[in-house]
Amino acid sequence: MFWIKRAMQLRNIHYFKVTSTLCIIPKYQSTTYSKICILRTKVSFRELKSRNYEQVCNFHTTSKLYVPPLFAVVLRPILRIGAFLIGRSFKKWWRKKSEEEKEKYRSLVRQNRDIFLGSLGMMFLMFVIYYVTHLETDPITKRKRFIIFNKKEQAELGRLIFEMHLEQHKELLVSRDHPAYKRLVRIIKNILIKNKDLISINEKEWTLTIVDSPLKNAYVIPERNIFFFLGALNIVDNDDQLTFILAHEMAHALLLHAVEQFSNALLLDVLLIIPIMLLWACFPDLIALFFHLVVQHIVNVLHSLPYSRSLENEADDVGLKLAAKACADIREAVVFWGVMRTLSEMQSEVNPVPWLSTHPAHGDREQSLNKKLPVAIELMRSSGCPELSSVDPRKRFYERTVRDHELYFKQKGII
Ligand SMILES: [Zn+2]
Repeated sequence: MFWIKRAMQLRNIHYFKVTSTLCIIPKYQSTTYSKICILRTKVSFRELKSRNYEQVCNFHTTSKLYVPPLFAVVLRPILRIGAFLIGRSFKKWWRKKSEEEKEKYRSLVRQNRDIFLGSLGMMFLMFVIYYVTHLETDPITKRKRFIIFNKKEQAELGRLIFEMHLEQHKELLVSRDHPAYKRLVRIIKNILIKNKDLISINEKEWTLTIVDSPLKNAYVIPERNIFFFLGALNIVDNDDQLTFILAHEMAHALLLHAVEQFSNALLLDVLLIIPIMLLWACFPDLIALFFHLVVQHIVNVLHSLPYSRSLENEADDVGLKLAAKACADIREAVVFWGVMRTLSEMQSEVNPVPWLSTHPAHGDREQSLNKKLPVAIELMRSSGCPELSSVDPRKRFYERTVRDHELYFKQKGII
C-alpha cells in the first residue's frame, strides 16, 4: 500500500477500502460520495500519477435514470408515429367541434395560460436536468457525451446485436485456421498490448469475426466485436494499413460511439415530439407531410450527418494514436485514404456530397490524417517505437501516375 500513502501525500486525498476494491477521492469531496464511486482495482501509483485522480472515481451526486436499451429501440418508432397520430387526431377532433365549443376551449386555455406555460417550462427544465446529469466525460478524448444506457444494459443489447450479426453471416464465417484470421488476430493483439495503459481497452474481451465475402468492409459492434470482410484485404497494401483500419474500428467501440449515437437519436426524437404534433394539428395533411419531411431533412443535414462525420473523424484521430503506439508506420493511413480516393476517382464514382454523407470524403480523411501525423509520430517516439523508415510511403504513393495506379489496381484485381 506504499503507493497509496505516496498518492495521499502528493495528491492530498482520502482513500476508502470497500470490500476488496479501492476508491480514491479528493479531500474536499464529502465522504458520503464514496459509496457511489465507480470502484476500480489494480490502479498502480504510476498510472495514478499520470492521470487526474478524479478519473479513478467517477462522481455522481445523484443516481442516474437510465433507459433500458430494448425499451429505447421500441420507444423510438412509437414516439415518431405517436406524435403524428396525436397531432392528426387532435386536428380531426377540433374540426368536429362547433364554433361555440371551440370558443369555450380557447377561453379555457386563456384562463389557464399560466398553468400551461408553467407545465411546459417545468418539462423543459426537467429535460435540461436529465440531459446535464447524463453527460459523462470520455476518458480518452475528454469530450462530454450524452449516454442514457447503463453498462449492464449496454452489454445485454450488445450481445443481442452480436448474435444477430453472427446469425446473418453464419454461412460465410472464416475458420480460426485461416491465414487472414491469424494475421488480423496478431495485429489486434499488438494494438491491445501496446495500448494497455488505457484502462478501458482491457475492460472487456474483444472478438474478431471474419466473413468470406468480397465486400470491402469492416465494422465493430458495441460489445467490442469486430467484423471484417475478406474483400477488404484486397485494398489493403500491408499490415501498417491494416493496423490503422482495425485501430479505427476499435476506437469506435472504445469511445462508445454506437451507444452515444443511439442516445442522441432518442433525445432528438423526444425533442421533435411537440413540433411534429403541432405540425399535424395545425396544417392540412398534405402541407403537414411536406413540412414534416422538410423538418426531418433539415435535422439530418444540420445535425445527424455532421454529428456522424464528427464521430468518424474522432475514430480516425484516436485510431491513429492507437496505431502509432502499436508502432505501425502510420504514414500508411494517409496512403490508404489516398488509395480510396484514387479508386473512387478512377471508377468515376459519384462522390456523395460531403455535407450529405454520414462519412467524411476520402480525400478529406487523407488530408486530415496527414495533418495529424506529426503529433502521432511524436507519440510513436515517446512510446519507444523504432524510427520510421526513411522511405516515406506517402512520397511513393504521390509519385505514382494515373497509369501506375491503374496498373496496380488491375494487378490486385480491384478494378
Ligand atoms: Zn468508422
